[in-house]
Amino acid sequence: MIVIGLGVMGSATAWQLARRGLSVLGLDQFEAGHERGSSHGRARVIRRVYGEGEIYMPLLERADALWDGMEAESGRTFLHRTGGLDIGPASSALVSNAAATAQSHGVTHERLSAAGIMARFPALNLPDHYEGIYAPDSGMLLSDAINTWLRETAVADGADLRWQTPVLGWRRDGQAYRAETAAGEFAAHRLVIAAGAWAGCLLPELDHVLAIERQVVAWYDPAAELGDLPVFQVEPEDGIRPYIMPPLSGDGLKIGVYGHLGQRGAEMRDGFPPGADDDAHLRSSLDRWLPGMAGATQLMKECRFTRTYDDRFIIGTLPRDPGVVLLSPCSGHGYKFAPAIGEAAADLVTGEELRIDLTPFSVERVLQ
Ligand SMILES: Cc1cc2nc3c(=O)[nH]c(=O)nc-3n(C[C@H](O)[C@H](O)[C@H](O)COP(=O)(O)OP(=O)(O)OC[C@H]3O[C@@H](n4cnc5c(N)ncnc54)[C@H](O)[C@@H]3O)c2cc1C
Repeated sequence: MIVIGLGVMGSATAWQLARRGLSVLGLDQFEAGHERGSSHGRARVIRRVYGEGEIYMPLLERADALWDGMEAESGRTFLHRTGGLDIGPASSALVSNAAATAQSHGVTHERLSAAGIMARFPALNLPDHYEGIYAPDSGMLLSDAINTWLRETAVADGADLRWQTPVLGWRRDGQAYRAETAAGEFAAHRLVIAAGAWAGCLLPELDHVLAIERQVVAWYDPAAELGDLPVFQVEPEDGIRPYIMPPLSGDGLKIGVYGHLGQRGAEMRDGFPPGADDDAHLRSSLDRWLPGMAGATQLMKECRFTRTYDDRFIIGTLPRDPGVVLLSPCSGHGYKFAPAIGEAAADLVTGEELRIDLTPFSVERVLQ
């Protein structure tokens, strides 16, 4: 098997394939742990209720079991359960979907009014007509530590992971697939493309459905006592939708805004360094929900989202080439599902029975 791209999705796939005793060659264009894709950084939010909708719940539940298994196997803590809040006007899709998924899947949660949220988390400031779904088991995944563990475990189980090896193109050759690199061609019976923002370069027929969007996240020194603070996201009427994380051992308050400054296009694969506009945008959003809490800017980092038109993932085989699996453009919310997506990819390439119905994420869907 060849896995093209070793961000979290490709690494999780290599881990799952190597664990099954299969021969795995993983290729990435950059160095291990690079900061030019979507998977780097200390932490990612994991939510136990899902404002994006019901279709994600089977993947979420499977990923949760796999995160537990990874912690048990490694003896390490990968998930800090800080609790999580999905906040918005009571009628917002985020709040109603989060409540519906919590109820239909028996997830421990509370529905809180704006006053109830502010009583419990006094640093937050919300309009009176807002509500939130609080899930105590939501929290933060330690992404850099997880990425390293996935890579190391895959290698320990026999995977051959090669860095600074861009795949220039691929083709079918009889029963095999050939991946072309500057170091020569590699052949395998199955190919997994987990190339993040570069997937469209390897699959030109899909390039138009994959929007590359510049993202910047920033960390701020808390300017005052934050008290207890969960991870939270807000879906306000004006669509400026932030996700915010409490400080994690020495880090500051972290904030990102979905869509950020609306900078989209192929040139965002390279992006450009964060600057004053990014800082101002993120600082004003933090100030809106946590007034007076944004102290000095500690750090800003740039990365990229690859978004589909409905922000739904793509996980599946190519209709024209069933031996090729595409993962995932995860539209800014994929990290929490990574072990389940890696497992699903391994099931797809080995022809094993799928544990999860992947129909909502099929490649056919976006090609129609
Ligand atoms: C700022 C930010 C915040 C986020 N926050 C959250 C969050 O809180 N919770 C959550 O669940 N998700 C979150 N996400 C989303 C999540 O991080 C992504 O869904 C996930 O990291 C995507 O992983 P990937 O492996 O598909 O892509 P990437 O990490 O980009 O990996 C793709 C890899 O493919 C390689 N590659 C590409 N083309 C080639 C080629 N031709 N040859 C060889 N290698 C190639 C690249 O070098 C890269 O290493 C966030 C994303 C960002 C950017």
